[in-house]
Amino acid sequence: MPKTDVIIIGAGPSGLFAAFYVGMRDLTARIIDPMAEVGGQLSALYPDKFIYDIAGFPKIRAKELVRNLVEQVKPFDPIYTLEERAERLEPLDEDGFAVTTSSGRTYLSRAVIITAGVGAFEPRRIEAEGVARLEHKGLEYAVRDARAYAGQRLLIIGGGDSAVDWALTLKDLADQVTLIHRRETFRAHGATVNRLIAAAEAGELTILTPYELQAVLGEERVREAVIVDKKTGRVRNLDVDAVLVLTGYVSKLGPIAHWGLELEKNRIKVDTRMETNIPGVFAAGDITTYPGKIRLIAVGFGEAATAANHAAAFAHPRLRVDPGHSSDHPPEGRPSVARSSLDD
Ligand SMILES: Cc1cc2nc3c(=O)[nH]c(=O)nc-3n(C[C@H](O)[C@H](O)[C@H](O)COP(=O)(O)OP(=O)(O)OC[C@H]3O[C@@H](n4cnc5c(N)ncnc54)[C@H](O)[C@@H]3O)c2cc1C
Repeated sequence: MPKTDVIIIGAGPSGLFAAFYVGMRDLTARIIDPMAEVGGQLSALYPDKFIYDIAGFPKIRAKELVRNLVEQVKPFDPIYTLEERAERLEPLDEDGFAVTTSSGRTYLSRAVIITAGVGAFEPRRIEAEGVARLEHKGLEYAVRDARAYAGQRLLIIGGGDSAVDWALTLKDLADQVTLIHRRETFRAHGATVNRLIAAAEAGELTILTPYELQAVLGEERVREAVIVDKKTGRVRNLDVDAVLVLTGYVSKLGPIAHWGLELEKNRIKVDTRMETNIPGVFAAGDITTYPGKIRLIAVGFGEAATAANHAAAFAHPRLRVDPGHSSDHPPEGRPSVARSSLDD
């Protein structure tokens, strides 16, 4: 079974920064997250909003901060295991842990850091006839490969940044794009909505509001969508090849609640080393609790550094907890962490 020094559960800002510090200790890391992209709440909930309280950045867009975190950890080449949710965490009789995910795969590590935020993000699934049956048969909740929509008649559902951004991106690739939203106004960033309206006026795509999906039809694959005008009740049938549902995410603490961790109001209790009640299992970021806890990205970064360095010393007791200064040990030019030593 594939083994890394550390498994990090959750690819939000705390998890990405924890992976950076694991790399600074010349150790290997696997980051697991059920989302298709990294960034946690920043990617799922507010990619285009500016953040003003990251030390050293007077102002930075959430998606840019995520991009920077990915860039920062790149020299250490962590393994990203995306679209898999950690379901089970088991201490092994010999040293280390086994983490089993929603894919049924099991990954091993010497130490674990839980940076699961407010829980696992999953697409907000919609209920309408044919939707569950045709998932992955033309109906998707995320764009896996934009090229798959080349030349297709595409229906996009949603009113937030994700739906509007993808409508604008895919209109140049798809044969036809229709965007429906159940309200009359879009929640997306103002400038993007203006571009959307301009594209519709230029005949590059069609916007229908307030419309809802009533059914998706097709045997082997999506063939037709039935949509309803919420104002008039009028039903329309659209010939489509694909349906993209981009209506946001819901989060659930889910399986973490059953791992034997000491919890307080759905948060994991940690000590000053960010260690939980299970030796070798650390936590950082929004998921942790202790007296005086504040939930901010800046705080999560500090906790991630503490958790990662203690996890490193737990994984390899020969290592000191104190990492020294990065200015003395720059990431560049180091021999890359021996990925080949992993049986992945
Ligand atoms: C609209 C909005 C604006 C905000 N603005 C600011 C701001 O200006 N400044 C600030 O400091 N903070 C802000 N925050 C809060 C900030 O986003 C959070 O503090 C931060 O995202 C916490 O990071 P995290 O890495 O701990 O958790 P998260 O960002 O929540 O990431 C956790 C990740 O863990 C994954 N996960 C959960 N369970 C599992 C599992 N079982 N298996 C695998 N993966 C799992 C989730 O899918 C998620 O990707 C804002 C929040 C919101 C919603």
